[in-house]
Amino acid sequence: MKITVIGSGYVGLVTGACLAELGNHVFCLDLDQQKIDLLNSGGVPIYEPGLDAMIARNRDAGRIQFSTDIQAAVDHGDIQFIAVGTPSKEDGSADLQHVLSAAQHIGQHMSGYKVIVNKSTVPVGTADQVKATINEVLSETNRVIDFSVVSNPEFLKEGAAIDDFMHPDRIVIGTYEDDAGCQAKDWMRKLYAPFNRHHERTYYMDVRSAELTKYAANAMLATRISFMNELANLADYVGADIDQVRQGIGSDARIGYGFLYAGTGYGGSCFPKDVRALVQTGNQYQQDLKILKAVESVNTTQKLILVRKVVNRYGDDLKGKTFAIWGLSFKPNTDDMREAPSRMIIKELVGRGAKVQAYDPVAMKEAQHCFNLDFRESPQNLEQITLCETMLSALKGCDALILITEWKEFRSPDFTQLKNSLIDSVIFDGRNLYEPNEMTNFGFEYYGVGRCNS
Ligand code: NAD
Repeated sequence: MKITVIGSGYVGLVTGACLAELGNHVFCLDLDQQKIDLLNSGGVPIYEPGLDAMIARNRDAGRIQFSTDIQAAVDHGDIQFIAVGTPSKEDGSADLQHVLSAAQHIGQHMSGYKVIVNKSTVPVGTADQVKATINEVLSETNRVIDFSVVSNPEFLKEGAAIDDFMHPDRIVIGTYEDDAGCQAKDWMRKLYAPFNRHHERTYYMDVRSAELTKYAANAMLATRISFMNELANLADYVGADIDQVRQGIGSDARIGYGFLYAGTGYGGSCFPKDVRALVQTGNQYQQDLKILKAVESVNTTQKLILVRKVVNRYGDDLKGKTFAIWGLSFKPNTDDMREAPSRMIIKELVGRGAKVQAYDPVAMKEAQHCFNLDFRESPQNLEQITLCETMLSALKGCDALILITEWKEFRSPDFTQLKNSLIDSVIFDGRNLYEPNEMTNFGFEYYGVGRCNS
């Protein structure tokens, strides 16, 4: 099929590459000329395992192209995916300006029937807005063209995006009940047929239910994380180990093991903004979503749990102290640092006078960019941050290690070398990667999250 994907970020590129891999002809549009130039010169603007090879393979086969040409993009695809960003506005609601501008572009340039698919995470009612925007453009230009809008939210996880897209737990497709909607449903069924060969994974529903499904999924996962973090903080005080509690409750089939890890809070480009946006949707309808407000508030506090532990150990004033930081991206296997806990932690430590030496396996370039933003009002503080080339060089001359992201390479370091490198042999483990007893046996002073030490 002929597909256009509008927006070549994490979701757009993965969607485009995977659909091309299945034999479709994909046109990826972005307004960011630099991004498109990079893609056309063989580069990939994000780190996502397997993506560069998949793009290269499909480019060589002539099944994927990248461009900033809006007219050509709209002409190309019978199905037009909108996969642009929906960041938070100041009040927490989702900013739909990119989605609606993409809709406007489609309306301006289309000359025949199109199926327009919202893949971006958007609040309930956005499909109606996309429809209204296109109708407005058509009527302004005195054109009558049939089209249909579909909600097809994306559930991929950064770091495992290709696998998630190719082997989805489910595909959610929301369509309107009219004739155009029936045709759209038919095209979507054909497009996704390769994913349903062994068993049907697609849930067809109305557009509003599809839009809400995406928020409900992210809100549920965020809730599990905040729930465990809150209990972890209690575990510290009552002398329990949250990881043993995790295993004890996860074994209950009604609960399951997923998303029960205590840590430094959730970050990234989805959970924080989606929880806020859902709360705002609630407000819009005078529905006070109390649980989700608490989820967000617990998470905001949790992002600084390691700073609290550092201050308990070293005092408020951290001048003269240097901390090694392992892991900067919001989770492993991605270079995404949007709302990453590392940014708040480093800002707090540096604000208290500490120096930090930070290392991340792939997010170093992104880190430099984010720190320039975070410290734009106090650029002199940037000098307190050193970005290091290896995990070992980050330890040199440091008082303690703070582990923020659970990259695989941090799982089994040479603990003797680690101990010899640190002045104080102290580890603050924000992901409970290490076993407290083992760390004590190695001679470390070990602070995990919810592992019997506040
Ligand atoms: P992103 O910021 O990585 O990419 C968005 C891209 O859209 C950018 O390259 C931007 O230049 C481009 N863009 C903006 N307006 C445009 C326009 N009018 N025409 C063409 N290009 C335009 O965003 P992302 O992380 O890929 O997320 C996209 C959407 O998918 C969001 O709504 C997000 O919530 C949702 N989502 C993201 C993930 C994830 O893990 N990142 C997972 C599921 C859903």
